[in-house]
Amino acid sequence: MSTPNHELLPEPPPAPSPAVPRFGVTPARWTNPHRLLPRVRWAVQIAYLAFLALVGLEFARFVSQATSDGPLTVSRPPAVEAFLPIAALLGLKRFLLTRYWDEVHPAGLTILLAALATAFLARKAFCSWVCPVGTISRALEWIGRRTLWRRRWPAVPRWLDLPLSSLKYLLLGFFVWTVGQMPLEAIEGFLRSPFNTAADAKMLLFFRHPGTMSLFVIGALAALSLVVKHFWCRYLCPYGALLGVASLLSPLSVRRDPDACNDCRACTRACPAEIPVHTRLRVISTECTGCMSCVAACTTPDCLGVTRKGARALSPWLVPAVALSTLLGFWAIARATGFWETSLPAAAFRFAYRLMGIE
Ligand code: SF4
Ligand code: SF4
Ligand code: SF4
Repeated sequence: MSTPNHELLPEPPPAPSPAVPRFGVTPARWTNPHRLLPRVRWAVQIAYLAFLALVGLEFARFVSQATSDGPLTVSRPPAVEAFLPIAALLGLKRFLLTRYWDEVHPAGLTILLAALATAFLARKAFCSWVCPVGTISRALEWIGRRTLWRRRWPAVPRWLDLPLSSLKYLLLGFFVWTVGQMPLEAIEGFLRSPFNTAADAKMLLFFRHPGTMSLFVIGALAALSLVVKHFWCRYLCPYGALLGVASLLSPLSVRRDPDACNDCRACTRACPAEIPVHTRLRVISTECTGCMSCVAACTTPDCLGVTRKGARALSPWLVPAVALSTLLGFWAIARATGFWETSLPAAAFRFAYRLMGIE
């Protein structure tokens, strides 16, 4: 039997190019239609940060007038109560038991419920589109990417990531347990106390005159966020943990089409929570912040998108649209119905500040 002479065989026809290039090859002339999402997100985050800076300045003027003997001409901005989550949690328990809204820090309770509602509807979009700490955390990630980790962020190994991630749930559990076992009378007493009334001014003092230990802790967290993506948010923030648990009920989630995927992993590299998006069919995770960085980074048409279980693909812009309109809706309704402005007169704050030794 003779062996075939390969030199005499005709050349095989060229293989047709695959419809979807594999292994990290970007399809020619395809531009991700959602590439502007991160820029719009930055614009929203910076606008909210600027708004909060104005709120802080206004509040600082209020506290300065309230702690002097002069007239009070500046109003206290209710949005400052966003920084009082423990009082809001206590106010929520009191509301559930008595149907009375917190009259001292009503905006704080409104903001907590609005953030929870965004998590129920649009994952933790509050974290990625609104929260100022999330914005600073993301900015530190950006700086780290451009200085230390130009090539590749070092991923936290799974054996370390899991125990670290549980820390924020332990903190959340501690706060929920503390609030849960507090009797109603104790909650009423705390909410009406001068300590609670002056809590936002105390917070202002903390930021104005941080102690050495506070500066060290803040500096250490900032340095860690340059090395580990979103160190505070991923591992330590109990507020984020609460929103993450609520977000498990969210109907919206990122979905991946494995048939279209080319395994380039751009989505996973872009994810601030280090979720391995390229391995998931749907991203159902307490860590997903709905930032849409993965969708904006995807290199293949119709591969990553947003979906509702059992429904057709939806626009990824829906996630921030739902989250932001929910927050604005809560604010508008609370303002219109009197659940935004405190019912305490300015003189009561002046009294509480003096009693608590705030100068
Ligand atoms: S995890 Fe906490 S600090 Fe971070 S963005 Fe969310 S709420 Fe803000
Ligand atoms: S999975 Fe996508 S939307 Fe969720 S946090 Fe990661 S990058 Fe953001
Ligand atoms: S889903 Fe991720 S791995 Fe797949 S093509 Fe898109 S960016 Fe690449």
